[in-house]
Amino acid sequence: KDAKVAPLTQKEEVGRATWMLLHTIAAQFPDEPTRQQKRDAKELMALISRLYPCKECADHFKEVLKANPVQAGSQAEFSQWLCYVHNVVNRSLGKTIFPCQRVNARWGRLDCPERLCDLEGANDIM
Ligand code: FAD
Repeated sequence: KDAKVAPLTQKEEVGRATWMLLHTIAAQFPDEPTRQQKRDAKELMALISRLYPCKECADHFKEVLKANPVQAGSQAEFSQWLCYVHNVVNRSLGKTIFPCQRVNARWGRLDCPERLCDLEGANDIM
């Protein structure tokens, strides 16, 4: 018999979509970000912790950020940091821990023709 899969609640759907956006941003973050891009990454996470449309989640995430300040010195650093804090949230919800060495396989850069989706970093001023 087929196992029945419960439909996602709105809270779960928004969570999944938000993690997708955040991990995709981290996958596409430049290897050598500009100072502005590093600031933007920090600000984005701070804004999520204030405007996320679930107050208990936002409040919890503020604490997670306080204990784990954003690390966005490079693409690798930002995606590993995000994987780590997502796992902090996973643990608090009783979900399985994701192996962060697999983060690049799970979340890749968008494959746009002629690399039109790539962001410029500090080392490729056009
Ligand atoms: P999700 O956790 O949404 O993950 C989506 C996919 O990402 C997974 O299927 C997996 O392939 C991949 N993934 C999982 N872990 C990692 C990782 N560590 N690194 C990279 N990829 C990974 N819900 C609450 O009920 N209470 C909360 O306090 C709460 N806080 C949240 C805070 C934030 C900032 C966000 C974005 C969401 C929060 N949520 C919270 C929602 C919750 O985290 C889940 O998104 C939701 O429960 C749906 O879970 P899911 O099983 O579909 O997988």
